[in-house]
Amino acid sequence: MYPNPIQKLVEYFMRLPGIGPRQASRFVYTLLDEDIKTIEGFADALGELARTVARCAECFRGIEKKNSNSVCDQCAGNTITAILVVEKDQDLETISKTGLWQDAYHVLGGTITLLNEKTRVTDRIRALYDRLARRTKTAEKPIEIVLATSATTEGDATALYIERVLEPFVKEKKITLTRLGRGISTGTEMEFADPQTLKNALKNRK
Ligand SMILES: [Zn+2]
Repeated sequence: MYPNPIQKLVEYFMRLPGIGPRQASRFVYTLLDEDIKTIEGFADALGELARTVARCAECFRGIEKKNSNSVCDQCAGNTITAILVVEKDQDLETISKTGLWQDAYHVLGGTITLLNEKTRVTDRIRALYDRLARRTKTAEKPIEIVLATSATTEGDATALYIERVLEPFVKEKKITLTRLGRGISTGTEMEFADPQTLKNALKNRK
């Protein structure tokens, strides 16, 4: 057993995606060899993250906490004509860097793994449903929903699940539902798609 502060930090690192106990303890011992200023800087950066960054209550992107705002500037605005649904924050970053998408986003926070299991992702799909129930009331024309999940088995399963949940809106012609064109090759995660491929995929959505 490691000394207590080490064990505690190992457990925190293990909360990160893909990090097991061995790698977590490697991180901690690496930090232990750093000078005290670096370790304190690391701790401060984490504290700052918790204090100054939050998730938009509507689209779940990371936003700077200002006063008591709970939604991002985009969601605070009245008109949303299209929503791009992405798996991860990094996907949003990749796409917004290309400047190809000016409209709203919805960040799922991952993919669906097991059907019928309630997770953060299914909660956020539920939130997308509620969001559309609110937004379509005042929208002048159908809101376009573009599913930009990865071309992986999990990404496909997630897209199918969303299609099923949002079906009532499609039937009532309150939304249109499209998926990114298959410019992105099978097995590719959005995050790693290059700008030209993304551009084609967005253009060829159907
Ligand atoms: Zn937002």
